[in-house]
Amino acid sequence: MNNSPDVHPPSVDNRTQHRKSLSLEDVRKDIGDCQRCPLGRVRTNLVFGEGNPKAEIVFVGEAPGRDEDIQGRPFVGRAGQLLTRIITAMGLKRQDVYICNILKCRPPGNRNPRPEEIITCEPFLIKQLQAINPKVICALGTFAAHTLLKTDVPITVLRGKFHTYHGRQLMPTYHPAFLLRNPAAKKQVWEDVQKIMKVLLPQASH
Ligand code: SF4
Repeated sequence: MNNSPDVHPPSVDNRTQHRKSLSLEDVRKDIGDCQRCPLGRVRTNLVFGEGNPKAEIVFVGEAPGRDEDIQGRPFVGRAGQLLTRIITAMGLKRQDVYICNILKCRPPGNRNPRPEEIITCEPFLIKQLQAINPKVICALGTFAAHTLLKTDVPITVLRGKFHTYHGRQLMPTYHPAFLLRNPAAKKQVWEDVQKIMKVLLPQASH
């Protein structure tokens, strides 16, 4: 594990540095009825992700929960409703952004994803990001931030700063489910979101 957060300023627009070589449809076809890890046998629905295929921002969570597994859609439970309110507060709609998870299938009982499951599934996330080509990735919660940044630095230290993930700007922040339990942390999330908005709409920050 690398304990040194890789901090980069949000000044460079990486979009021009990445060429689209595949589409989200290609990635979805590639996953198919995936059984590449044991979660494929216990899921109800594979939760690929949803939103604007050309989104400037992609929100990445940990894994589908119960509601998501049933509906086959990401972030549709109480935490998902709070994420929708955060997106609305940014002046965007859910259909403007893209929302997905590191794992596409629900771990039984919402247990933590296992390293071998992440190793097997993360390449699909990387391909999704290549296809979408966003300006910013927002990692939701400790697990997503640690998995994507390959670090165990606490989310309290990681959040609020831009890092790099496969050449893209990544902002870690608290997971909406954490905010449901700790409403006082909404203030910090709003600070993080405002930094993201300055990257998405630099003219609005002047
Ligand atoms: S979690 Fe990922 S790798 Fe595992 S079965 Fe689901 S889609 Fe395949």
